[in-house]
Amino acid sequence: TLREAMRTQGREKSRYRTIGLFGLSMSGAIGLQFYYPLLPMYSIGYLLGCCVLHTFVLEDAKAEYRVLHDRLTGLPNSSFLFEKFPEIVRDARNGDCSVGLLFIGLDNFKSVNDCYGYRQGDTILRRMAHRLRILVQTRYLARSGADRFQVVLTARNREAVASQAKDIQTALCEPYALRHGALHIGASAGLAFLDADCDDWNELFYRAELAMFDAKSSGGSALSLYAESMRSCALDKRRMETALREAVEKGALTVYYQPKVDVSKNDVAGCEALVRWRDADGRWISPAVFIPAAEEAGLVTRIDMFVLRTACRQVLEWKRGDAGAVPVAVNMSVRSILSAGFADRVIRILKEEGAPPSLIDIEITESCFMGDVDAAFSAVSRLHEAGLRIALDDFGTGYSSLSYLSAMPLSTLKIDKSFVDAIFSGKVTAQPLVKSIISLAASLGMGTVAEGVEDRGQLDFLAGNGANVIQGYLFSKPLCAEECTEYLRDRKARIAAVMQAA
Ligand code: C2E
Ligand code: CA
Ligand code: CA
Repeated sequence: TLREAMRTQGREKSRYRTIGLFGLSMSGAIGLQFYYPLLPMYSIGYLLGCCVLHTFVLEDAKAEYRVLHDRLTGLPNSSFLFEKFPEIVRDARNGDCSVGLLFIGLDNFKSVNDCYGYRQGDTILRRMAHRLRILVQTRYLARSGADRFQVVLTARNREAVASQAKDIQTALCEPYALRHGALHIGASAGLAFLDADCDDWNELFYRAELAMFDAKSSGGSALSLYAESMRSCALDKRRMETALREAVEKGALTVYYQPKVDVSKNDVAGCEALVRWRDADGRWISPAVFIPAAEEAGLVTRIDMFVLRTACRQVLEWKRGDAGAVPVAVNMSVRSILSAGFADRVIRILKEEGAPPSLIDIEITESCFMGDVDAAFSAVSRLHEAGLRIALDDFGTGYSSLSYLSAMPLSTLKIDKSFVDAIFSGKVTAQPLVKSIISLAASLGMGTVAEGVEDRGQLDFLAGNGANVIQGYLFSKPLCAEECTEYLRDRKARIAAVMQAA
């Protein structure tokens, strides 16, 4: 710590010089004792004084070092960079150089912590800091928290700064070797330049951060240059998070249901509960947009539990009415599954609502097979033992492992829409792939549900190969509770209408 402090801070150097001088004087005092034996009391006093001062100065230096550095990576923090910034700018201006701030953030770093645990997350951050140290001098670097890093770049012109920025961003996207194997995690970066209308640190920091968010929202693993239009986008995102929080608190979310049809029985096999949000301006926001935002904002478990409770009530309403016993599948984010007491919460909600476990399915995704597999496994097993069925959603799009597939108590594989779309895309591998997913499920004793089926050709291919449970616009879009109740009442006629159509 002290060596690093000496290397990076002038003040520490001068303190060390002081300590050195005291040390020299101390040795002198001890030497004097040999010639003047009457002096020992002086020497001992002097020695003690030196020790106290030494400790005091060291502790002070360490405390200051801690204030200006990040414990985890040993890199300076943004306060340090803020202090050094005027000096860096002065040097750059003297050399007629451009100055830019690169703001870096990892893509989906939260899910690394969720899936692999905080220890592995910390390892990635240390490795990232190490890569940065190799590329950039420490005095130009900072970590401002979590997965956020800043680099001040100076070069003869903007193009050269941008090219350095791209090299850094690319280097950070290289896979990280972990205990489980190589982890590919993208890094997004935003670059802003110091100029006439952005001449202070705070504005530069803000602009570079906005540019980083822009890089993330355009798919990640990219470098974005700050543009004025990014201000309104950032406001939108913040507004969306606030509005979503409000919607969750006020109970303004609703649940739609999409029927799954078993074509071998000409009957509905169940429904999938899909959450819906209409914001205060009356716009429908897609769950594909707000669920990831809810995950980031820590709201997703509340949403999942709300959908589960609503689904339990719906199941009972249908059971008591004309529709009969119709199982409903509820999606659970990996964050919910790994949250403390997840399985107990689910079971408690079912009990409170009086819903039979045999009528509630839980859809999980392959992200449960990454990271804390033991926790996911025990949560899923608890639910299975309680009588709920577990389906693996979006099968084949994530990290599939045959050993987890057979170890997890799954009852259904959901064939992802991308495979269904590929059936008649002309890709030679598409049809054999879908057939092998169906036979893999059968050989593991699981059923299948084909997702996103939109036309009759897809249905015929799937059913012809043994995948009889079909979910998709061909039969029905997701419907509000009343419409779905009507669909269930008329289901025989509605299914027959689709099956008889050419
Ligand atoms: P998912 O679980 O894969 O749900 C299927 C999505 O495909 C739904 O989109 C559904 O409306 C859509 N879909 C179904 N059939 C067709 C079709 O034939 N053609 C097309 N183009 N699309 C079809 P939706 O409702 O927008 O949901 C998107 C995703 O949001 C869901 O994907 C799921 O991952 C997530 N989601 C929805 N509700 C919840 C929830 O309550 N909790 C959690 N954690 N995630 C949810
Ligand atoms: Ca689903
Ligand atoms: Ca799906």
